[in-house]
Amino acid sequence: MTEREPFPTLVVNEVWARCGGCCECEDVSHGHEGACGQRCILPMQGGPNIGGWEAVARDPDGPLTAENCMIVCAPCFKKMRESGQ
Ligand SMILES: [Zn+2]
Ligand SMILES: [Zn+2]
Repeated sequence: MTEREPFPTLVVNEVWARCGGCCECEDVSHGHEGACGQRCILPMQGGPNIGGWEAVARDPDGPLTAENCMIVCAPCFKKMRESGQ
């Protein structure tokens, strides 16, 4: 996974408002059915524990827009990293 430019705060805020601060991950291999929905805590961005979250790209080659950004909780982010996505 190559590092890329982070999403601008304005975009992240828009995504956060869209999902209500809940994890938008839909990878069923994580053990959740459909969307994860884990509640995240806004000041805990980048945190490794429950409540922590990251803004990740749906398409790694896509633009830095709200459409291509999703909020994922720390446990899902960890699983994504482990599976090499
Ligand atoms: Zn999650
Ligand atoms: Zn997940």
